[in-house]
Amino acid sequence: MSQNVVAEIKSRIGLFPNFPKSGVEFKDIFPLFQSPSLFHKVVELFEENIKENHQEVKIDAVLGLDARGFLFGPLLASKLNTSFVPVRKKGKLPGHVVSTSYALEYGEDSIEMQTGSLKEGDNVVIVDDLLATGGTMAAACKLVKQLKLNVVKCLVVIELTGLKGREKLDGTSVYSVIQYE
Ligand code: AMP
Repeated sequence: MSQNVVAEIKSRIGLFPNFPKSGVEFKDIFPLFQSPSLFHKVVELFEENIKENHQEVKIDAVLGLDARGFLFGPLLASKLNTSFVPVRKKGKLPGHVVSTSYALEYGEDSIEMQTGSLKEGDNVVIVDDLLATGGTMAAACKLVKQLKLNVVKCLVVIELTGLKGREKLDGTSVYSVIQYE
């Protein structure tokens, strides 16, 4: 996929300084959805990356992170002909769930996943809109390891490289479509 397409995707990201709080530049992915073809391109880039780098692996599920991972995960799962499983903030999923907590700037939060649809040794990829400090993705990896699943790849549309979120992921392979320092 050409650099032009990546540049086009980047041009669709809204930048909002000091939102939701002072000092943070919020990266808004929703303008991307005003261009169906660019939205599809993002998911195609995810798909291509998996097919090129992990062709020997059968992906058993795409896990999407609450909430914007849900926008990309189901379409990717459909393209890979596999299932989609949501990873949600605590208290949102019914039935039997596994959970893990992770540190926030102030306090902590928990994420949960329903058990039952996946079994030990299954291969999964995890999708979110953005990798910042890596805390959320690291928690998802921890949850997946609790279930003895294998994380083949972490996929994000945007990576804030200066925050070094990758380094929290214990060497798990990451692919980001676009990057900001
Ligand atoms: P982190 O756990 O620090 O890697 O943060 C990742 C999560 O927070 C993702 O689910 C993002 O949706 C959200 N997030 C963090 N920083 C930003 C930002 N600058 N703009 C938009 N979303 C962000």
